Amino acid sequence: MVVAKNAMEIFSILDKSNCKKCGEKTCLAFAGAVYMGNRRIEDCPNLSSADIAKFTTPSANENSPEAQQEAYIAELIDDVIKLDFPPVAERIGARMHGSVLTVNILGKNIGIRTDGTFATDLHVIPWVIIPLLDYVLHCQGVPVSGDWISFREIIGGKEKYALFKKRGEDVLKQLADKYTDFFDDIVHMFNGKRVEKRFESDVSVVLYPFPLVPIMICYWKPDEGLGSSLNLFFDKSVDVNLGVDSTYFLGTGLANMFHKLAEQHGF
Ligand code: SF4
Repeated sequence: MVVAKNAMEIFSILDKSNCKKCGEKTCLAFAGAVYMGNRRIEDCPNLSSADIAKFTTPSANENSPEAQQEAYIAELIDDVIKLDFPPVAERIGARMHGSVLTVNILGKNIGIRTDGTFATDLHVIPWVIIPLLDYVLHCQGVPVSGDWISFREIIGGKEKYALFKKRGEDVLKQLADKYTDFFDDIVHMFNGKRVEKRFESDVSVVLYPFPLVPIMICYWKPDEGLGSSLNLFFDKSVDVNLGVDSTYFLGTGLANMFHKLAEQHGF
């Protein structure tokens, strides 16, 4: 027996019939509960003993941040698969490929199948998946306005800004200070655009983590004894198209991903 790495690994061996014989509403909810240590894998009567023998969930998993995150993702997926995908695709600027809801993220496609699994070559990592599922569930489809606001101006952003600056903007600023090709590389690798310089910055670059959620990075080089500075800006539709919590996840997740790329390959 091995410990499941995440709830989706448990979900993959279930028959996805949502028959409710285990007492949960769906197979996904059951997988999340097993991963959290709240249910036992053998509570699904549709599994063979060979399948049951594949996983064990030790108590060490219980209530760990990772387990809670996995359970939260399972809950979100559970809600997403109840949606009628074609009108959702139209609302959020995504596309349908057959029955798969496909969202372009930074120039790459992530598909969500009707059984809640993902069709993608990308690593399915929480900082992308949680905002993505939130976007699919809650984006109101308001067109991008072209008016940019800071994180602090997002509803609920003021309270979270200190941490957002530390884990997002400051990390990006250090990368921009250190690597001269940083902006050219992220534009090239993640389908970004250099745009007209805004707010008297030296560099302005726009990335599209989701079709209706552009992020603009503005960087000011060091000048006459003043240090450099970097801020992220969001379209003012972000309040209704994503909301502050997922925007926080997205901004800090991007910074973290760029930091890891720099450590591994440089820019
Ligand atoms: S009993 Fe098994 S197949 Fe039925 S809903 Fe529960 S986990 Fe899914």
